[in-house]
Amino acid sequence: MKLTFPHLGNAYIAVKALLDELGVDYIIPPFNNKKALEIGIKNSPEFACLPLKINIGNIIQAYREGADTVLITGGCGPCRFGYYCEMEREILQDAGYDIGFITIDAPRGISLKEYFSQLLKITNGINIYKIAKAVKNTTEIAILVDQLEKLTFKMRSIEACRGDTDSVYRDFQQEIRLINGAQSIKKYISQTSQKLTNIRCNTGIKPLKVGIVGEIYTTIDSYTSFNLDARLGNMGVEVDRSVTVSNWVVEHMLKKVFHLPRDLKYAEAAKPYLGAMIGGHAQETIGNSIMYSQKGYDGIVQIYPLTCMPEIVAQSILPAVENDYGIPVLTLIIDEMTGEAGYLTRLEAFVDLLNKRREMAASDR
Ligand code: SF4
Repeated sequence: MKLTFPHLGNAYIAVKALLDELGVDYIIPPFNNKKALEIGIKNSPEFACLPLKINIGNIIQAYREGADTVLITGGCGPCRFGYYCEMEREILQDAGYDIGFITIDAPRGISLKEYFSQLLKITNGINIYKIAKAVKNTTEIAILVDQLEKLTFKMRSIEACRGDTDSVYRDFQQEIRLINGAQSIKKYISQTSQKLTNIRCNTGIKPLKVGIVGEIYTTIDSYTSFNLDARLGNMGVEVDRSVTVSNWVVEHMLKKVFHLPRDLKYAEAAKPYLGAMIGGHAQETIGNSIMYSQKGYDGIVQIYPLTCMPEIVAQSILPAVENDYGIPVLTLIIDEMTGEAGYLTRLEAFVDLLNKRREMAASDR
């Protein structure tokens, strides 16, 4: 069995560590690119979500390199994420690709024994303690990678020489693919973190702060978002993103499996506007926008793929949040036809607006 898995931002680093630890053979698909998107568009229904189309592209590219089984996480409704696994399986079957699927899921009411038996499917009977250790290491790596990414958000906004952070981070993304084993991966993350901390910075500046909210795939995946984090960072803006891979692993997988209380601060904040989970990350979008505004952020960028139902609902609520909390919100909707130039112009205009607001607030004091 040769496994593969679709991309979701930096999630491949944690998945790679898990499979290394379990001694499973795998192929990482090429990073998200135009070709993957074209293959996905060609093989998927027109109105499927953009992330599903790219997933299909990833899987077919990995299949062509020799992968025969897809490892995928299950999802719950009410949006289309709940059907991803089955849809992808059927799309690939109809297109003539002979590829199996293994779904790692954490449905309600699952016992620890059942959860680990799902993992046993890919491990050829490795003992349960080794699996538990691999899961622990994988979770730690997902957290470390997110912390590293957060550090790039900070350093980009204050670096003295534009491009230094991008250069360190680009090297990291290329090199990490070649490093095997959880301990070596952790060591390399720590070395990169040190390199980032050593970047020369401008002192005494107070960068604009922008919170990124929206559908998980488009907020996390740099190809799909046209490098939203880095673009804002290179305009001197410090960004933050509450929805991360590690947050998803801990809050949506592990805490469910171990029946631990979840961190639902965002749901509490969103309650006056959206009191129920409607699928995807709509409640997080509303709740995190409110919490960013309470923390003094200058603006919010919401990003989501065209036809994403939960985020369409969130978008219709955000003007009320904008009004009640006095924080500007920019919404970016992405599909395969989105032009980069128009996207960038909107982003630049939004940053100009935020700078102007700050200047006006300072002159009013
Ligand atoms: S959150 Fe949006 S993009 Fe993701 S599966 Fe649901 S509808 Fe599709």
